[in-house]
Amino acid sequence: MNYDQDRSEEQTCMECGRELFGRTDKRFCNDTCRNSFNRKLRAEERSRDNENIPAIFKQIRANYEILKQYHLEKLEEGTTIHITRQELLGKGFEPKFCTSVQNKGYNELWLFCFEFGYKKEGERHFELCYDPIQAK
Ligand SMILES: [Zn+2]
Repeated sequence: MNYDQDRSEEQTCMECGRELFGRTDKRFCNDTCRNSFNRKLRAEERSRDNENIPAIFKQIRANYEILKQYHLEKLEEGTTIHITRQELLGKGFEPKFCTSVQNKGYNELWLFCFEFGYKKEGERHFELCYDPIQAK
């Protein structure tokens, strides 16, 4: 073991912060600290999962409701409409949350939220389509 290297690395317990002696790969002073650390880590992961997943579901549902409104007002099957990005995002739409992707050809990458498709048109517009097959 290299003495200088050993001294330059000040190892401390990841749980209680006490200085560690001996093997350089040690991360905890004892099993109590290790278990305590891992327990907290798992609890954090669980709460992160619980926070994140429902938020994504909520956003996809919000996206769906926004697109459905266009369908109810003017968007028919087999046609598309063009709206500004500002209008769509202003309603709370988040383009990155989609349920499927369809490549209909060069520069024709459509994202779908169930049966409603959307595609970026330049920097300022979106094209929307309604394709009931996508939801089946
Ligand atoms: Zn410790």
